[in-house]
Amino acid sequence: MSAIKNCHNCGSSNVKKESNSIIYGREYGNGKCYYCHDCKASVGTHDSGKPLGTLATKDVQILRKACHDIFDKLWRYERVASRGHLYACLAERLKISGSDCHFGMFQRERCLQALEIITQKNWWAT
Ligand SMILES: [Zn+2]
Repeated sequence: MSAIKNCHNCGSSNVKKESNSIIYGREYGNGKCYYCHDCKASVGTHDSGKPLGTLATKDVQILRKACHDIFDKLWRYERVASRGHLYACLAERLKISGSDCHFGMFQRERCLQALEIITQKNWWAT
């Protein structure tokens, strides 16, 4: 993704790259984030400065984290299938392209859809 101009949550153009101390009170990681000054949605950045995903409000960030915790456990620890295979299965179930299938790009609805899928037993095998 390239630089963010408009907020993915509220549409405001009042989005700026900021120190992430604006969210946490001190800097973490590479210290940068994109931040919407209207609705306070935010997203971290890669070291290159590119955004990690789309801007999200706190509740959506919590949903994304829940998705990641459940999903990553499957390939990282339980090793039920490769990471790539799991993402491909999830993309197919969500009827989206593989390049759009990243939790960091999901907003509320899609996080909820993904959670419904990945909490089913053996969802990757059906
Ligand atoms: Zn906003």
